[in-house]
Amino acid sequence: MKKENDLMEKIISLCKRRGFVFPGSEIYGGLANSWDYGPLGVELKNNIKNLWWKRFVQQRDDMVGIDAALIMNPKVWEASGHLNEFTDLVIECKKCNTRYRDDLIPGKRCIKCGEKDFTEAKQFNLMLKTFLGPVEDKDSIVYFRPETAQAMFVDFKNVLETSRKKVPFGIAQIGKAFRNEITPGNFIFRTREFEQMEIEYFIEEKNWETSFEYWRSEMQIWMKEVLGLKEVHELEVAKDELAHYSKRTIDFEYEFPFGKKELYGLAYRTDFDLKNHYKDGAPYKEEGGEAFYPHVIEPTFGVDRSVLAVLCDSYQEEAERVVLKLKPQLAPYKVAVFPLLKNKPELVAKAREIYDDLKKDMMVAWDDRGNIGKRYFSQDEIGTPYCVTVDFDTLEKDDSVTVRDRDTMKQERIKIKDLIQFLKDHV
Ligand code: ATP
Repeated sequence: MKKENDLMEKIISLCKRRGFVFPGSEIYGGLANSWDYGPLGVELKNNIKNLWWKRFVQQRDDMVGIDAALIMNPKVWEASGHLNEFTDLVIECKKCNTRYRDDLIPGKRCIKCGEKDFTEAKQFNLMLKTFLGPVEDKDSIVYFRPETAQAMFVDFKNVLETSRKKVPFGIAQIGKAFRNEITPGNFIFRTREFEQMEIEYFIEEKNWETSFEYWRSEMQIWMKEVLGLKEVHELEVAKDELAHYSKRTIDFEYEFPFGKKELYGLAYRTDFDLKNHYKDGAPYKEEGGEAFYPHVIEPTFGVDRSVLAVLCDSYQEEAERVVLKLKPQLAPYKVAVFPLLKNKPELVAKAREIYDDLKKDMMVAWDDRGNIGKRYFSQDEIGTPYCVTVDFDTLEKDDSVTVRDRDTMKQERIKIKDLIQFLKDHV
């Protein structure tokens, strides 16, 4: 386990040192495993979200998106079953009173004091509560959404009327969710505030198995081909462990340095949610047909767990360098531009010109510190796929630059006029 923890420590330290992820509220001592995405982290995270939106919304005819409020009418959570059912079992160490989620404590031994004597497990609701408005009484209690999903059900009729979609179709959303997790931890893996990318795909009941298989394969393609994850495992969730709304669930698990854990989930939610929200009658009807409650397949993707899996999967140590072998589409910077020497104004001016030009199309890094070797290694560590160097030959001979590839470390000369096209083709 020591080696794995070392890897996690290295990733956390790289994230902090290079500006991917910082401890939240750090100057005040942090806040219970909250994390902030820094300048590079926000790029990586946005790249993941944008690719997801493009693939699952923009490029499909059967999908539309929404962006709903984080705080919804509490009746939503009554109807969805979350107020009663969205619980985990909590146990408390009898010696030091530390609380744990019952299924997340290795060897049933208190991590803080080593004691093995715990209280009986009790149900603990994970909904994060607050008050809305100036009066703090029971009528002003509201909850931060614990999943983005419910808005897709609550807005179902509005979406249907405005988009004129027909079953099968889906509603997608990317946004924050909040859970009062008993044991947050493992860096950005389990936090109380996190982001989800979710799809509620509405179908006829008779097609649920085919649709489930279809989304299972779509999720595999996303994980392997878009994120580039080398290995993902599927876990069929046992019947007695299914969430209150699900008839079948598959967890997609990734081998994180701290163990094999859930990355994403795929659930068949039946017509549970629409039935609970539209008690006055079925919300879907086609011309000449009977009104009915569509059934739902739900592929759900955690954004932060995507970021973490991608970082763990791409982190490599080679001879004297650390390199993030990110898919170019995911990399925060697509290219870095350097003048060979920083005290030669003509080199700097030409490099600036190229930098400014590339910036119009992609995220570009600028570096003129130290020597070229150091600059390469600095870009390798943050996963920049290409580095472009302007040297004397650029100015005097061939109007070309040296382009160095992160993975092969090979260098080739490319004409400045062909550079943008080369980069567009490769990133
Ligand atoms: P777990 O068993 O790890 O608590 P879950 O089964 O409760 O997760 P879901 O309710 O299926 O999770 O949530 C959908 C997705 O949201 C998860 O697959 C995960 O990617 C993400 N997610 C859930 N809880 C958290 C959290 N506390 N921090 C970060 N991401 C989360």
